Amino acid sequence: AKKQGRSQHVFFESDMASRVELAYSLENELRQAVSQQQFFLVFQPQVGVQEGVIQGAEVLIRWRHPERGVVPPFEFIPVLESSGLIQEVGKWLIFESCQCIRDWQNQGLWQEDAWLSVNVSPNQFYNPSFVDDVLAALKITGVKPECLELEITEGIVIGDTENTIKKLQKLRSHGIRVAMDDFGTGYSSLSYLKRIPLDVLKIDQSFVRDVTVDKTDKAIVEAILAMSISLDLEVVAEGIETKEHYLFFKGTRCHRYQGYLYSPPVEASFFKEMLKEIVVA
Ligand code: C2E
Ligand code: CA
Ligand code: CA
Ligand code: CA
Repeated sequence: AKKQGRSQHVFFESDMASRVELAYSLENELRQAVSQQQFFLVFQPQVGVQEGVIQGAEVLIRWRHPERGVVPPFEFIPVLESSGLIQEVGKWLIFESCQCIRDWQNQGLWQEDAWLSVNVSPNQFYNPSFVDDVLAALKITGVKPECLELEITEGIVIGDTENTIKKLQKLRSHGIRVAMDDFGTGYSSLSYLKRIPLDVLKIDQSFVRDVTVDKTDKAIVEAILAMSISLDLEVVAEGIETKEHYLFFKGTRCHRYQGYLYSPPVEASFFKEMLKEIVVA
């Protein structure tokens, strides 16, 4: 038993070492990804629940790895965050999103009141120049602030509530909309939410999945919808995969939805084709 314990110990050590190495090389690879522009954006349409047409889209990042192919964000966003690389990548994400809006406007494909909704991670948001960077991206591209929505998380708010409130007020005073992402998965009481300047609540897909069969999930979703009335917020349902999901939300005050039922996130060229269809229709 003693011998076994020892070999386990050795195994554990080398396992740790390889994990550290792995994180280190991932960080190096991500540095390269930044300098060689291996990131690209995909777009998931957000659709009016009652209207049934595309009103905007959520922007999601992808990494085209030279050997591994397309890497999903959960594998690298945490490393971008911990390494500080998120500053540069986050700035690029917002600029690139504005640039897309500009291009599609120039091509006559952009509805006046459409928007792109961009995810913001904590260390990106906490950067003292974050608000100025966002405003600069809008100014340089000539995009109206109303075309941009920023998705923050409860984690950002809890990390630094007073500072977050100030920044959100500033962003909103310019006309930029703010959405609370993954709503319901964190700490969200009515009294706390009342203090956060917001425009939109995004109901997390974990509550949507079984909303038509699970009484608890249904109750949570209904509570969020009721909350959104008292707080005067728009609601977006995420992860709408089935007709049943859609019909459930059609019977509520939910404003827009996104999910595989309408479309998965798609590359820019593909999303552009979707925009063409609306303009023609
Ligand atoms: P999220 O912001 O909650 O994004 C929604 C995720 O749900 C996306 O995964 C999307 O592809 C997926 N999804 C969309 N429709 C459906 C559906 O009908 N069913 C299911 N099961 N899933 C659906 P993705 O693109 O892999 O992104 C995962 C997470 O990574 C995002 O969660 C977000 O937290 C983060 N992320 C992605 N792009 C960015 C980014 O540009 N910046 C930052 N900071 N985070 C990002
Ligand atoms: Ca999001
Ligand atoms: Ca979400
Ligand atoms: Ca999520």
